[in-house]
Amino acid sequence: MSEGVTKLHRDIYRASGKHLPGAGVPKRKNTNSMNAYKMPSPEEIILPMSMHIGKPAVPAVKVGESICMGALIGEADGNVSSPVYSSISGMVTEILDITLPGGRSSQAVRITSDGEQRPCASLEVPYITGRDSFVKAVAKSGIVGLGGAGFPTHVKLDVEYSRADVLIINCAECEPYITSDTCTAVNKTDDAVYGIMAITEYLGISRVVIGLEEGNYEMKMAAEKIAQEVPNSEVSMLRDYYPQGAERVLMYHTTGRVVKMGQLPIDAGCIVSNISTVAELGRYLKTGVPMLTRCITVDGGAVRERRNVTVPIGTKVRDVINFCGGLCERPKVLLFGGPMMGVEADSFDVPILKNTNAILTLTADEMNFSPPSNCIRCGSCLAVCPYFIDPAAIARALKRKNAESVKAHRVDACMECGCCSYVCPAKLPLAENNRRAKKFLKEDSHNG
Ligand code: SF4
Ligand code: SF4
Repeated sequence: MSEGVTKLHRDIYRASGKHLPGAGVPKRKNTNSMNAYKMPSPEEIILPMSMHIGKPAVPAVKVGESICMGALIGEADGNVSSPVYSSISGMVTEILDITLPGGRSSQAVRITSDGEQRPCASLEVPYITGRDSFVKAVAKSGIVGLGGAGFPTHVKLDVEYSRADVLIINCAECEPYITSDTCTAVNKTDDAVYGIMAITEYLGISRVVIGLEEGNYEMKMAAEKIAQEVPNSEVSMLRDYYPQGAERVLMYHTTGRVVKMGQLPIDAGCIVSNISTVAELGRYLKTGVPMLTRCITVDGGAVRERRNVTVPIGTKVRDVINFCGGLCERPKVLLFGGPMMGVEADSFDVPILKNTNAILTLTADEMNFSPPSNCIRCGSCLAVCPYFIDPAAIARALKRKNAESVKAHRVDACMECGCCSYVCPAKLPLAENNRRAKKFLKEDSHNG
């Protein structure tokens, strides 16, 4: 498929005002109407210094130090970074290097619980007088994008007063299995309202749009409740398909606005924030307690009890699984996140991160593994790509090691949503291939 055809395809969609393409993936929302179980404090936690996009935090404690719940464990290193706090009280027993899901390595702090859950006496409700003190308070909270991206929230909110005119609340939760956002929206509605009102007040935003998939009844009820409380807000119902929750897809479907490659939603006057993030923000602004726990979905055929669970950050997967009745069989894959964009973990000892929205213990049946075959040039991958990228053409260019051609097919725009891999009848790992193509371009530009 040539770049010319890709462009034509894109222009037809734009001109017709149609929904962007995507894939109809099975929902498998087994936990959708379940409240979150609260997990008791574990015997130990491991807190990675890198649970966000940007520079890792720097350990602020020493081995042997006694720690209260809410104590600063990792100090933010610069602006695009985020502090880390202890979700239990106890003692620092080790500073170590660990491998995170997806293969990244990070420095981490191990804390052994004293079983007392002693809260820090110094925590206080932030005193906010305007935009600057608001952004500063959010930076101190340790909150990052909880939808999976992990971008520090204070960086996203650090915009001039009135530069954004729309706040889009991402309630799409389009990945199969995951229902932690829905659970949070239903159970923390007041916190979400508080967080949204703070953002609109301190950043001078005049309109709020809450975007969600039309088939999610529980989320619809919560969104309507939020819209009743928040002035100048509306609920935008979207078709049930993947990836409605991708930032730019959501922005286009809820407001009709588009941004060029290399630009951010703020360049089109929008801030997009996940519902769990705004609820966490609201809770923090009311209590002054930084981000210590989060709601995650535990699902997949290998776990005995599928549940939503509120988990102290840093709890090991093994402890979460045991809290859910343990395993009934060995999973083929342990995923952090959903089956479309999640990353694989190679151990049950990895900790729950701030941006972990689900752990999935998927069996071979659920994964539907089959070996890849040759491309039959059916065009299905291009037809489902929300960004009108032609991954089959990228794969061919990469095979020829043709950097110019890889670039011309806009691999940089790929968000690795996995729609193309999902629909490919030849079972080619196209999204993964795009990741490799991006790496190839980086190395090519370094070499010359
Ligand atoms: S969907 Fe698969 S088989 Fe069809 S064109 Fe794309 S890569 Fe080839
Ligand atoms: S993974 Fe990339 S190329 Fe494939 S559908 Fe998603 S955005 Fe398009």
